[in-house]
Amino acid sequence: EVSAPLIVVSNRLPFVLQRNEKGELSRKASAGGLVTAVAPVVVECKGLWIGWSGMYDLDPKTKIPEADPDDKAPTAGLSSDQIIPVHIEEKIFEAFYTGCCNGTLWPLFHSMPDRAVFKADKWKAYCIVNEEFAKCTLQALRKTLSDLDARGDSDVVPVIWIHDYQLFVAANTIRQVCEEENLRCKLAFFLHIPFPSWDIMRLFPWDDVILQGIMACDFVGFHIEDYCVNFIDCCSRRLGCRVDRNKMLVELAGRTIHVKALPIGIPFDRFVELAQSAPVYIKDTDQVRVILGVDRLDYTKGLIHRILTFERLLEKHPEYEEKVVFLQVSVPSRTNVKEYRQLKEEIDQLIGRVNGRFSKPNWSPIRYIYGCINQDQLSAIYRDSAIALVTPLRDGMNLVAKEYVACQINDPGVLILSPFAGAGGMMHEALLVNPYEIDDAANTLHRALNMPLDERMVRMKQLRLREQEHNVTNWMKSFLASIGALASNEDDPL
Ligand code: UDP
Repeated sequence: EVSAPLIVVSNRLPFVLQRNEKGELSRKASAGGLVTAVAPVVVECKGLWIGWSGMYDLDPKTKIPEADPDDKAPTAGLSSDQIIPVHIEEKIFEAFYTGCCNGTLWPLFHSMPDRAVFKADKWKAYCIVNEEFAKCTLQALRKTLSDLDARGDSDVVPVIWIHDYQLFVAANTIRQVCEEENLRCKLAFFLHIPFPSWDIMRLFPWDDVILQGIMACDFVGFHIEDYCVNFIDCCSRRLGCRVDRNKMLVELAGRTIHVKALPIGIPFDRFVELAQSAPVYIKDTDQVRVILGVDRLDYTKGLIHRILTFERLLEKHPEYEEKVVFLQVSVPSRTNVKEYRQLKEEIDQLIGRVNGRFSKPNWSPIRYIYGCINQDQLSAIYRDSAIALVTPLRDGMNLVAKEYVACQINDPGVLILSPFAGAGGMMHEALLVNPYEIDDAANTLHRALNMPLDERMVRMKQLRLREQEHNVTNWMKSFLASIGALASNEDDPL
């Protein structure tokens, strides 16, 4: 189906490299939906995947191991010469990743500028790392082109697909060198986090470099239209680009780039299968019903507001004593960043306070897991929870909301969703609630706990149909189709 080789560029490789006691390398599969959708396409089109190796002490000449024969991950079909590890010195990588990506770009792009630190040395490291990724990508492209030419496929144009906010400016160098050396390729970019409004973007001292980096591509995808509109607005105001907001086209220096909303989905059928086969881990009986939260421990996820909401519910409705529990799974994340460590402390204390206040000898209102749960267990927990409380303060998309509805195969539960998640704009049958409005959110929780079966069924049916149709494989297809559509649209469309 794919007509050209695809070169995927992401911060991390699609699996984790690990070393045993003898020092031998092997692959450890990563379970994310994105990898599940993209890896088979890269396998099929004999493409390449470029990403950071995850190891500082790896000799650049070391060969990446082939997959184990019993590896069933979607990446198992990627041979070692389809994997191009990027090597970066520890100090630089730390400044790039912890400093600029997590310390600046993450909060800024989630419209939380007060949490962002703007430091020139971190930004410099960011640019160095992006340059290194660009260099590796160019090498990969040259090799791909010479293979194509040797096969007589000189009309085939490889597609370079750059992912996410760690690599905003890599395309600048790639395009420049391609023009100098006359290398043919299409450049595409997808952002997995929100794109903020101009008011926020302009706070970043090097905003023009980021915008130019994205504009070096031919095609740019965001999760939802709001993010596209913000990006187009920034290009118009900061770079003075000509724009067509209806057709979502932006022009810079005579080149037009296409912008499109492509909301990512989940491997829906896989979650259904897991929910069908996973044993019961929590007993969500008529006596005690489970309200579930699942997130990385991140300040964007609204965990403090969520705990306060549950506390408010117990305050207003003592009848829920011993009848409901709030189960929160928090995956440790970015623990080397001070903000994240502080947030963990704050959450620990708040949960302790609420449990201390409401617990009975045989019941505590909040069950808290600080750790990662595998997908089998997670699917069972989704399936058996009466309510999913997905209330981020800001979130690019939020996959937990989608995974929860996929797993509602029996007695359907209720999804409570924040409008500030990308998913909030599409999952209309969820109960939408502003996470900052604690009182209103507690009322919504009460409503969800009392929602009649027929209403739950109607809502969940629609939610599930939508996610089944817009699954991650179809997202991948739409992305490839959008890139393909570029060829017929090369004269000035503005
Ligand atoms: N997840 C997991 N184990 C856990 C908790 C979460 O594998 O214990 C996964 C979950 O299935 C989902 C992802 O982590 O696919 C979280 O994605 P989301 O878009 O909700 O948030 P992000 O962490 O990307 O901001």
